[in-house]
Amino acid sequence: MSFGPPAVRFKLFPNFIYDAKQAGRIPPEYKPEDHTPAADVARVKSSGAICVKTYFERGFADDKNLPVMGPDVLAEIRRAATQDGLVLMAHANGFEAQKFAVEGDVDVIAHGMWHWGELDKKPELPDEIKRLLDKIVEKKIGYQPTIQVLYGELAYFDPEYLKIDAISKVTPKEMLEWFQSPEGKWFGKELHAPTTKIRHQCTSRKNANSSSEWKPRLRAPSRETGAICAQCSSSPALAHRARKPRPKPTRSDVSGLTFGS
Ligand SMILES: [Zn+2]
Repeated sequence: MSFGPPAVRFKLFPNFIYDAKQAGRIPPEYKPEDHTPAADVARVKSSGAICVKTYFERGFADDKNLPVMGPDVLAEIRRAATQDGLVLMAHANGFEAQKFAVEGDVDVIAHGMWHWGELDKKPELPDEIKRLLDKIVEKKIGYQPTIQVLYGELAYFDPEYLKIDAISKVTPKEMLEWFQSPEGKWFGKELHAPTTKIRHQCTSRKNANSSSEWKPRLRAPSRETGAICAQCSSSPALAHRARKPRPKPTRSDVSGLTFGS
C-alpha cells in the first residue's frame, strides 16, 4: 500500500494492519482497534472471502526498505485465519520473505523466490534455499510460482488461453470452469473497463517481465479486493480476492499459476 498515493492508500487497502510505529502517518479516522490482525481477518471473513492474503516485502526502487511485520503479527494473523476458517496466503517473493512465511506456518506462499538477498550472486542454488524449499514441501505449503507478473494480465484477453493443455494440468477442474464462467471473468472486465484511474508509475520494472511501456495503473477498487498493481501491495496489509461462490479450495489446490500480486 505504500506505493499508493498517500491521500488514498488507506481507502485502497481498508484491511491494513495498524502498526503503532507508523501512527504518525495513519489518518486519525483509522483506529488501532479496527485494524488488529483479528479485526482485519474478521472483516475479510464477513465479506464472504475464503482466504486471506498478507504481505511481506521490503519494496524496491524508490520505495525500498519499507517496514514489514514481525513474527508476532504473523502469528496473530495465523491464529485469526485458523479461527475463521480461512486459507492463509502470504505474498512472499524473496528468500527472507518465504523463510518468514514458512516459519509463520502459512498455508500458501504466493510468488516465486525472485530475490535471494545476500545470496543473489551465487551461481548455483544455495544450500540455504534448498533447505527452505524442502521445508515448504515437508510442511505441504501451497506454492504459487507466478510465472508472469503484469504481462500475464493479457491472458484475460486471449480467448484461447484457458484451452492450453498445460493450464488444465496445474489448475483444478472446478477453478478452470469458474474462470470460464461470467463471474470468473470479473477481473478481465475490470481491467478493460474505464474505471477511475489514478495514474501511478512504478519506477522499477525489475519484476515485471513486460515491455518498456509498462505503466501500472492503480485503480480505485470496485470491491474490497484492494488495488491492483503487482508490486504495489508491499506492506503488512491484508487483502482478499476470493468471493463466493468460488469453489472452496483446499490447502493443496489453491496453488497454481497466478498473475499479479
Ligand atoms: Zn502478491
